[in-house]
Amino acid sequence: MNNVHYDLCVVGGGSGGFGAACAAARLGASVLLVEAGPGLGGTSTRAGVNNYEPVAGATGLPQEIFDRLKDIPDAVTLQRPWATYHPDRPWGWTKPADETDYRLSLSRRSGVPIVFEPDILDRVMQDMLTDADCRIVLKTRFTKVNYDREHIHSIVIEDPNGSKIVEANLFIDATADIYLARAAGCRTAIGVEAREVYNEPTAPEQPELVLNNASLCYRVTPFKDDEPSQIQPLLDLIDIERIRPVTSIRTYPNGDLNMNPLHMMSGVEAYELGKSAYEEAEKRIYAHWHMLQTHYEFDRWRLVWISPMLGVRESYRLIGQYVLREQDLETGLEAQTHPDIIAFADHALDFHGVRPSRQLTNGPYGIPFRCLLTKEIDNLLVACRGASFSSIAASSCRLSRTMMVLGQAAGTAAALFGKNVQHYDARALRDRLKQNGVALALSEGYLEVMPGLTPLQTPRW
Ligand SMILES: Cc1cc2nc3c(=O)[nH]c(=O)nc-3n(C[C@H](O)[C@H](O)[C@H](O)COP(=O)(O)OP(=O)(O)OC[C@H]3O[C@@H](n4cnc5c(N)ncnc54)[C@H](O)[C@@H]3O)c2cc1C
Repeated sequence: MNNVHYDLCVVGGGSGGFGAACAAARLGASVLLVEAGPGLGGTSTRAGVNNYEPVAGATGLPQEIFDRLKDIPDAVTLQRPWATYHPDRPWGWTKPADETDYRLSLSRRSGVPIVFEPDILDRVMQDMLTDADCRIVLKTRFTKVNYDREHIHSIVIEDPNGSKIVEANLFIDATADIYLARAAGCRTAIGVEAREVYNEPTAPEQPELVLNNASLCYRVTPFKDDEPSQIQPLLDLIDIERIRPVTSIRTYPNGDLNMNPLHMMSGVEAYELGKSAYEEAEKRIYAHWHMLQTHYEFDRWRLVWISPMLGVRESYRLIGQYVLREQDLETGLEAQTHPDIIAFADHALDFHGVRPSRQLTNGPYGIPFRCLLTKEIDNLLVACRGASFSSIAASSCRLSRTMMVLGQAAGTAAALFGKNVQHYDARALRDRLKQNGVALALSEGYLEVMPGLTPLQTPRW
């Protein structure tokens, strides 16, 4: 087996992993990015979640990505709500807006989402990393970790041609399900914590294995005028009564539609089905599409693509040096006293119906750097949806662009502090992030209070 050595090895090339690899490589670290899939972007490309929900604080690398996409035909649009959920029309639907100012997307309440073409996002991410001299290996999976009590020495990665040992001063787990942190013995949690764990006001008395829903997104395109309609046949063995039509619809820049069936499979069902969850979800998708075509006037649209990856919103989460919790979300950035805040966000607490959901009451909240640091391993950071959040906090914090900013913070810390990351200097980290475009003050990254910008008057969802 060949050994290779890098300053930093990032495992997982989704939003968090891209942010981490790009930031570290631009600051001069030698970086290897290991991605199991055939391209980058993770959930936001391969699970078909080509929708950057409006969210405060999505500055730095995600803003740069938007600027690059804007220069490519049919790559990206800001969108405005066009239809809100209704029993007769069970979907929320957005369509391209005339506006092109990215800052309009920086607020949950009054912003607009951004919808992009997934393959183009993948290409832009790969170009940005290649320009920064980051080495990317695709179709390559992390399989094993060599560590002693508190230090990772190397990991084993496998591609179709065999295995390699990768040594690095520092590792970043951006696999979403935190495979590396779990393999290295870090403490993790799954499901909703009991109230006594973090005193969260809306936590249940007892722990509950409740996980945010999973979805399999798909793409439809209009039939040409002279083409006859084709209705998706209903497969045997599917109980159509169990299929719920509620769908989040986004319009691709070329006019196709992205269908995100919100109540297709509970998170626990996906977790318990494990590898067979995808196959089951695919059957339900065909039934879902049959239902929309036959009951909801989509008979002039044709199914052209089903995402190759099941969209999982929640699974294992690290119990790191600080656990972001409901109280942080409620207190809000202005009143939080953490010295190490490296990102902020304002998405609603959103469990898609499996637990109560609600908007934040005190505007955006900050996320401390310690949420990325493990307690057990001195040279490992976690920068993905499995970072150190309570389940309630994760229901708000998980958005793609928020993950990318967390990744940017992890990669910046990796380049600044290397293997001494446990002794990070919070002020130096924050200063560097600000220099590289990450807003850490509301007036720089929150539409509601950004000088000279008027929020769009859009319906409240
Ligand atoms: C259905 C659905 C709808 C959503 N809607 C929105 C939305 O509208 N807007 C929004 O902003 N967010 C949305 N989210 C949330 C958001 O998309 C995700 O939380 C976010 O993209 C996760 O980013 P990540 O970097 O943590 O993980 P991912 O993007 O999932 O990346 C993890 C990467 O790690 C790789 N990997 C895993 N294991 C290994 C291994 N062993 N070796 C190597 N690589 C590995 C995977 O292939 C993957 O590429 C949605 C999520 C879902 C599931």
